[in-house]
Amino acid sequence: MPELPEVEVIRQSLDKKIKQKKIKKVIVRNRSLRFKIPSNFESFLRGLKIIKIDRFSKYLILYLSNSHYCLIHLGMSGSLRIADKEHIKKHDHIDICFNDGTILRYCDPRRFGCFLWSDDLDNHFLLKDLGPEPLGNHFNGEYLFKLSRKRRTPIKNFIMNSKIVVGVGNIYASEALYASGIKPSSQAGRVPRNKYEILAHEIVTILKKSIKDGGTTLRDFVSGNNEPGYFKQSLKVYGREGKECYACKTIIKGQRIGQRASAYCPNCQTRF
Ligand SMILES: [Zn+2]
Repeated sequence: MPELPEVEVIRQSLDKKIKQKKIKKVIVRNRSLRFKIPSNFESFLRGLKIIKIDRFSKYLILYLSNSHYCLIHLGMSGSLRIADKEHIKKHDHIDICFNDGTILRYCDPRRFGCFLWSDDLDNHFLLKDLGPEPLGNHFNGEYLFKLSRKRRTPIKNFIMNSKIVVGVGNIYASEALYASGIKPSSQAGRVPRNKYEILAHEIVTILKKSIKDGGTTLRDFVSGNNEPGYFKQSLKVYGREGKECYACKTIIKGQRIGQRASAYCPNCQTRF
């Protein structure tokens, strides 16, 4: 599943490739994505210019020249690529064709992704209940500490809850908790303030590093440059159950938390 760093890498790539370009036509081959693509989607976009490409959580937001927005989510298996007229593959559902001949093609075998438009992002049903962006100004240790008080939920679920903070997926939550020395099953409400300061810092550091490295390498994922990312090679606990901790040589343990696989070092990570 494309995570926040991959989506940010795609955003940066789209910023270079489609910003300021005018949409000549849109081709929809399959409307049955997570939300059905409306029949007037093609005519709505035709002739509009892409002013800028933003990102909130895992949503890509195309700012259009008519003050509306096109909201794109890649779902479980969606990918965007710059394509040519030929070589259309089975799951290539949408083409956005620009005046200069550039084609942005959306492929999504499992069709959990979405393409929507809106004139009011603040009140959009997909965005309005989401917490702050981890790379934005409103996210820090104090914010996490305050929201966590009296919560008995495991800290890993707490930081993966998109109402608390968006875009911290399983890989990044596992890695950030390892880097902060916090056992993933610790009750969120019992983790002290100083640990939340470290945790917030580590979440930001890990996401930024991953963006810099081009996102994690995941099956079905193709970045905007058609280049796989390399973050996975530097993962310290995620997917390393049964192997030695790089720091202390203790065997990394696996545990299921909230139906998700979790890995931690029993020596380096403390339970609060
Ligand atoms: Zn260790």
